[in-house]
Amino acid sequence: MKAVCWMGKSKVETLTVADPKLLNPHDAIIKITKTAICGSDLHLYDGFIPTMESGDILGHEFMGVVEEVGKEVTNLRRGDRVVIPFTIACGNCLFCKKKIWAACDNSNPNAHLMEAAYGYSGSGLFGYSHMMGGYAGGQAQYARVPFANVGPLKIESDLPDEKVLFLSDIFPTGYMAAENAQIQSGDTVAVWGCGPVGQFAIASAFMLGAARVIAIDRLPERLEMARSLGAITVDYSEEDVSVLTALKDLTGGIGPDACIDAVGLEAHSAQLQGTYDKVKVALMMETDRPSVLRQAIQAVRKGGTLSVPGVYGGLLDKVPFGAAFGKGITMKMGQTNMHNYMKPLLERIEKGQIDPSYIISHRITLEQAPEMYKVWRDKKENVTKIVIDPWANAAA
Ligand SMILES: [Zn+2]
Ligand SMILES: [Zn+2]
Repeated sequence: MKAVCWMGKSKVETLTVADPKLLNPHDAIIKITKTAICGSDLHLYDGFIPTMESGDILGHEFMGVVEEVGKEVTNLRRGDRVVIPFTIACGNCLFCKKKIWAACDNSNPNAHLMEAAYGYSGSGLFGYSHMMGGYAGGQAQYARVPFANVGPLKIESDLPDEKVLFLSDIFPTGYMAAENAQIQSGDTVAVWGCGPVGQFAIASAFMLGAARVIAIDRLPERLEMARSLGAITVDYSEEDVSVLTALKDLTGGIGPDACIDAVGLEAHSAQLQGTYDKVKVALMMETDRPSVLRQAIQAVRKGGTLSVPGVYGGLLDKVPFGAAFGKGITMKMGQTNMHNYMKPLLERIEKGQIDPSYIISHRITLEQAPEMYKVWRDKKENVTKIVIDPWANAAA
């Protein structure tokens, strides 16, 4: 089959590789009909996530049709149409029973690699490094899905792929970010980063009762999309714009009730601290560039909530923890507990409350994927979201 492979930092190639096989009676093999490139794939592309190996198949946002199931798979049969959650969960461990699916204790065979750095390991993830399980990803024509009784969401209606594909990650991730923000009816919510997760966090914040959402970014196409959802926008790249001042001005000096950091470890900052982080990361004295996190901690109102769906990987420097303590803020974060959200959000799509396909800007083939990684990383061609049809012909 054809697959998009990580071949080193800033190097991605579409190669012909062996088809996946059932390795465990709980596995299913999925023939992939649509897959996507995620903002967090850019962290792999940029070499921020350790334990990637040359030849690893990328991708964790995919859906398709069940091709084959193992002997113990009772929930699926050949021909079923399914969306696959990017986190892999066993359904039986202490954490799965508590519905903290992203903390599954049984789905990461390389848990020891995470334990060394984090104390404990999270669940395995598709296509996201060996320390996250080393599972082949879904930017390919087929994928092996472990614990197939637990994760895959069956699509029984005739909704097109593009409307349901983002149930694999970014829609639930944006929704959980809004839920983690503990929004009360009438609240003002600030969202840093208007990429795909930020867009779904904005839409979800309104669904959960926010009166106002203030969206912060620097890319015009993203700000425009945020405005189309009803958000007020702040372009931090504009001269004389201070995000902290703008947020104060917009909230009568109090600060937003909730702040959502949908940027994570590769934040850009025009200020001195941005340069400081770049230098420290380059000297390997810091792994992440947390300028959004710093700003969000400072901006949130006293007693407010900070929700972090943006991915962080390692050790953070100069985080104003004293401000977090002094204001008594609540911080909630983590990988998405996908399995809690896929079905309820599918119902919202079926009822016509939201059509997640509005976010798609590019539809490409597997052969075009390597070039599009670079285009998106370099913030060119107004990319908002890239969807791949793994069976489309490059020439078409
Ligand atoms: Zn993703
Ligand atoms: Zn589990």
